[in-house]
Amino acid sequence: MKSKVYFTDFHCVTDEGPCDKLKRLIRAAGIEDIDMDGKFVAIKMHFGELGNMTFLRPNYAKAVVDTINALGGKPFLTDCNTLYPGSRKNALEHLYCAWENGFTPLSAGCPVIIADGLKGTDDIEVPVRGGEYVKEAKIGRAVMDADVFISLSHFKGHELAGFGGAIKNIGMGCGSRAGKKEQHSNGKAVVDPEVCRGCKRCLRECANGGLVFDEKARKMTVDQNNCVGCGRCIGACNFDAIDFALDAAIKEFNCRMAEYAKAVVDGRPHFHISLVCDVSPTCDCHTGNDVPIVPDVGMFASFDPLALDCACVDACLKQTPFPDSQLTEEMKKPGFCDRHDYFENANPNAEYKTCLAHAEKIGLGSSEYELVVVK
Ligand code: SF4
Ligand code: SF4
Repeated sequence: MKSKVYFTDFHCVTDEGPCDKLKRLIRAAGIEDIDMDGKFVAIKMHFGELGNMTFLRPNYAKAVVDTINALGGKPFLTDCNTLYPGSRKNALEHLYCAWENGFTPLSAGCPVIIADGLKGTDDIEVPVRGGEYVKEAKIGRAVMDADVFISLSHFKGHELAGFGGAIKNIGMGCGSRAGKKEQHSNGKAVVDPEVCRGCKRCLRECANGGLVFDEKARKMTVDQNNCVGCGRCIGACNFDAIDFALDAAIKEFNCRMAEYAKAVVDGRPHFHISLVCDVSPTCDCHTGNDVPIVPDVGMFASFDPLALDCACVDACLKQTPFPDSQLTEEMKKPGFCDRHDYFENANPNAEYKTCLAHAEKIGLGSSEYELVVVK
């Protein structure tokens, strides 16, 4: 069955700005049909890595927050900590990053809560109905505690997933650090002895006997026979001494991400918004960004995150690409293999179709959609 995806472009007449248009779009798409009265409403978004300039402006978050407040809901903006050591790997740094990028209660209209807690270890294990790769997804507690879930994503390229849209914002974005590890890696923990300070803080996180302290060297080590690769220890180390090879095959990575997204939205009201603007070739997790690969397209909203992603990628592929971006540079390289897809051509190691196909298989949504244009 086709899902409805609502769309409006960024063209604005005098006195109606893009945020007003976004409010009209999400109302037309049916956000008011969700009972928000007195409910905690998690708005999952990406606050941008420090130095990146393509993340969504807080003004857009405010437009969604205003709408939820008008419906009697209790909104909060949220994200989980990152697996890699950037400016968002624990709640303190993450909050400072969000504030520095403009996401304050004054600008966004509601608090920011880092869903998986101070060190990214505060998660809930959520069964994945129909899951083939993940039995229990490790999702940030505040995301799961919310009564209503809303995804507000910036649609752009991604070096592994091809593009980052609703499913990536939900699946990867709502995983705790251990949850992100599970999606990215089949491997076991590794401790860098050059970085380890021998504080033993990580020991109490491991329930499997995977960590063994070397008294002589005063360093932590990993017993590769006992380590089950659960990822629990990574959030415990204040010094980024623990790491995992990001070695999951692209197909598994995509399927696990879809299953994580299913775990987040299953069994409760959810709604999804994607803004296709500043379509940089790589994601907002980078400390910089390239020029866009295609022009700004518009805003999309749907109850179906899969249909939403399909509509956004289809709309991008109809655009004429910009010159002098990573996309055109890749296409000039010797041996370039044309995959007839801007996202996969811009990131030759990326692939997204298995994610969409698996999302449909496990019942996350429908790849068939009807586009409803809101003027
Ligand atoms: S990944 Fe899990 S099992 Fe392995 S050392 Fe870390 S906490 Fe222990
Ligand atoms: S918490 Fe980090 S620094 Fe401390 S012992 Fe464990 S790996 Fe080493």
